[in-house]
Amino acid sequence: MRVVVLGGGPGGYVCAIRLAQLGAEVLLIEKGELGGTCLNVGCIPTKALLHAAEIYNTVNKEGLEYGIQTDSVTIDWHQTQKKKAKVVAQLVDGVEGLMLANKIAVLRGTGVFQDGRTMKIEMTDHTTQSISFDFAVIASGSRPKIPPIPGADLPGILTSTEALSLSEIPESLCVIGGGVIGCELAQVYASFGTEVTILEALPDILFGMDKDIVKVLKRQFGKTGIKCNLNAAVKKIEQSGAGFKIEYGGGVVEASQVLIATGRAANVEGIGLEKAGVQVENGVVTADPSTTCTNIPHIYAIGDCTGGIQLAHVASAQGVLAAEQIMGMTNRTCFHAVPSGVYTTPELGSVGLTEQEAIDHGYDVKVGKFPFAANGKAIISGENTGVVKMVVDAESDAVLGLHIAGPRATDLVEEGALAISMEATTEEIINTIHGHPTLCEAIHEAAHAVHNQAFHIPN
Ligand code: NAD
Repeated sequence: MRVVVLGGGPGGYVCAIRLAQLGAEVLLIEKGELGGTCLNVGCIPTKALLHAAEIYNTVNKEGLEYGIQTDSVTIDWHQTQKKKAKVVAQLVDGVEGLMLANKIAVLRGTGVFQDGRTMKIEMTDHTTQSISFDFAVIASGSRPKIPPIPGADLPGILTSTEALSLSEIPESLCVIGGGVIGCELAQVYASFGTEVTILEALPDILFGMDKDIVKVLKRQFGKTGIKCNLNAAVKKIEQSGAGFKIEYGGGVVEASQVLIATGRAANVEGIGLEKAGVQVENGVVTADPSTTCTNIPHIYAIGDCTGGIQLAHVASAQGVLAAEQIMGMTNRTCFHAVPSGVYTTPELGSVGLTEQEAIDHGYDVKVGKFPFAANGKAIISGENTGVVKMVVDAESDAVLGLHIAGPRATDLVEEGALAISMEATTEEIINTIHGHPTLCEAIHEAAHAVHNQAFHIPN
């Protein structure tokens, strides 16, 4: 059985590995570096820069409190960029090694469907190849979406891709869009001294996340001098001297650099979907979420190109689902407990329903909250800002959501993902001993707090 996987991001390469594990002959087509947006110009380089910002803040601001004195702390931005590139290269090399180990043929070029059974590959060495397949998996990913704002295409305006590789730290930065990308990159540059303003069209940043955890991050943004202008849809961008003038509903901002972070568009053009008869609706490939199958029974689609939740781990999970469907297996991945993270300081981690969503779904909702200010491990590390919030169905005691703002929130939230996928109750979390001193104790305490019985705060 020959399967072609179009795109080598975290959706495509994981799908290819699973197919190979199950005995398929796999051809993976990739025109750029393996690892896609996530490894090359997304999650990984962003987190590397955020980690650099965290080290700088720790040494520069928090060290003194612990008796660590340094004469002066400076940033060698060139070295920061070098380290980021090294992290990326190491992970991309790792994926290449995995392709070899799994005997997956990687074809370097752009794959274009010729019909429902053949794909032509315009190879990067300018040759062409034509291959036939039994099954195909479309994992073509996404790219930054540029909104139709006059001036949005001016030279020098950044998307997240360019913002990760600036040759120097900008004096000022206007971030258009207060989603995950906007918030993470705002904090990177604000930490290194850039004057940052976020312009967000909606009434809040990170719209859709639980209000109580977003509030914690906004407070921190305020402390670090990041301005958040809400209800501020951008109308026009103009060149102004060496920088830009950004006009929004409510005012004008001037900045030396502008970052557009207003979402990502699916890559559905130029890959011959129409020749294969694959349906595209509202700019995304139509795929059945329970199988990832498109309207063509032997062609599947996964990840960002299908719209939905545009997260690397969702793409990977869909890749495994597609592979197992193709190979005739049953897959039981729990797609209603998808953790999401914002890698700022404090981090945000979220899974399941927010309090508002649970109310809107008609649940009789109970909430338990526990602050990191009362958690020993958080106090030790000086990262005691934030809260764990557990959202529970009062009737069944089942955990519906877990929302965390605080240290390692993006890791901690996995306990909530496991609880939701196993339909665990707060009683089961309470009956599970949590180690001490750990940050996880805050989750244990939040479960107790649902019943007004937390130990380390007054109830
Ligand atoms: P997003 O959709 O999360 O946020 C974009 C924001 O831009 C929205 O809040 C929107 O209201 C705002 N906006 C749109 N037009 C505007 C205008 N004209 N003026 C002002 N504001 C405007 O998109 P994103 O942050 O670009 O991220 C894209 C995708 O990548 C998301 O699905 C995100 O979850 C994912 N991502 C995830 C992570 C992570 O997991 N840590 C990191 C980066 C990106």
